[in-house]
Amino acid sequence: MEWTEERVETLKTLWGEGLSARQIAETLGGVTRNAVIGKAHRMGLSTRTETPKPRLSVLNPVTDRLCQWPIGNPDEAEFHFCGQSAETGRPYCESHCTMAYRQTSDSSAA
Ligand SMILES: [Zn+2]
Repeated sequence: MEWTEERVETLKTLWGEGLSARQIAETLGGVTRNAVIGKAHRMGLSTRTETPKPRLSVLNPVTDRLCQWPIGNPDEAEFHFCGQSAETGRPYCESHCTMAYRQTSDSSAA
């Protein structure tokens, strides 16, 4: 089996599409999984590693220009942030600013 230009192109394409070395070997035919990996390394194709993406953004989709007041329980599916336009320089909208500062003054007074 020779690595013709066509086969190399196929290898590159399939590797880029995220197929496993075994799948690429089966597609090309007449080549082993190890040969595919060896060829890919010699071509400088990067080794794919599964890096889990941070999921923080799922829980906090609002930007810092929107009210960050949590609505509901974080454990519940309907949990979300208020999302209304925040007061300038504040993390919350007008009504939630009022609630936040009232809570603060209440606890310090008590
Ligand atoms: Zn709010």
